[in-house]
Amino acid sequence: MISSADLIDPPPALAPALDRVELADPAFISDLHLGGDHVRTLDAFLRFMREVAPKHRELLILGDLFEYWAGDDDLADPVPQVVSGALIELKRRGVRVFLMHGNRDLLLGHGFMQHVGASLLADPTLASMGDQHVLLAHGDAYCTHDEAYMRFRAQARDPDYQRKFLVRSLAERKAFMGQARSRSEEHKHMKAADIMDVTPEAIRDAMRAANVTLMIHGHTHRPAQHEFVLDHAPAQRRVLPDWDFDGAPGRGGYLRVAGGELLAEDFGV
Ligand code: MN
Repeated sequence: MISSADLIDPPPALAPALDRVELADPAFISDLHLGGDHVRTLDAFLRFMREVAPKHRELLILGDLFEYWAGDDDLADPVPQVVSGALIELKRRGVRVFLMHGNRDLLLGHGFMQHVGASLLADPTLASMGDQHVLLAHGDAYCTHDEAYMRFRAQARDPDYQRKFLVRSLAERKAFMGQARSRSEEHKHMKAADIMDVTPEAIRDAMRAANVTLMIHGHTHRPAQHEFVLDHAPAQRRVLPDWDFDGAPGRGGYLRVAGGELLAEDFGV
């Protein structure tokens, strides 16, 4: 069992995280928003975990695996149980699992990572695939025009703020998150159509800082392949789709590597 002392030390913002990773045959997903009332999306994820993920050497989940996360002591709930079971089974089949925080599940901590055998990735992380380097991020850090959201983001990722939050009872935390989701700035932000897109200059700055011409992120629910010129070099930004099989038509998908290129695959109903 995970105790409250395990939750706050270290708080998720300070949990051990990799900021560099070497990949052989990765699959990238993000923004599944798994939670109790997204039954069909959960089913689609579980099918993906049985049929697609085992064909890869690594699974990288670039944030917002869960609709919300109140703390690692919430593992006993049915949805976290099923999801962590699928992650553990994938690991047992020899696939390395990497998780990045999204804006909704940034309280996933060291306890969860240990439970499922996953490695936490810093946001951003520099990955290498052969001689190709790619910057991986959730994406929300680059939505810099949304000033209210950027303030919320800084507070939610503050280690002291997380410690203070996580010492409250699980029931209190879940109630707080339920209320926050129904009325807060963040919730308004999270209706897909209202999520601001990334600021191109913020993306360029991040890619320059990491010295890459390729980037993968999620968060915006605007799956795309953007081609542009970065300091006279051809550059590419790939945006992962969110998953939603509870609305119609269902949608979801992932990125994989084939012949040195990133390939966007639909994951159909
Ligand atoms: Mn997000």
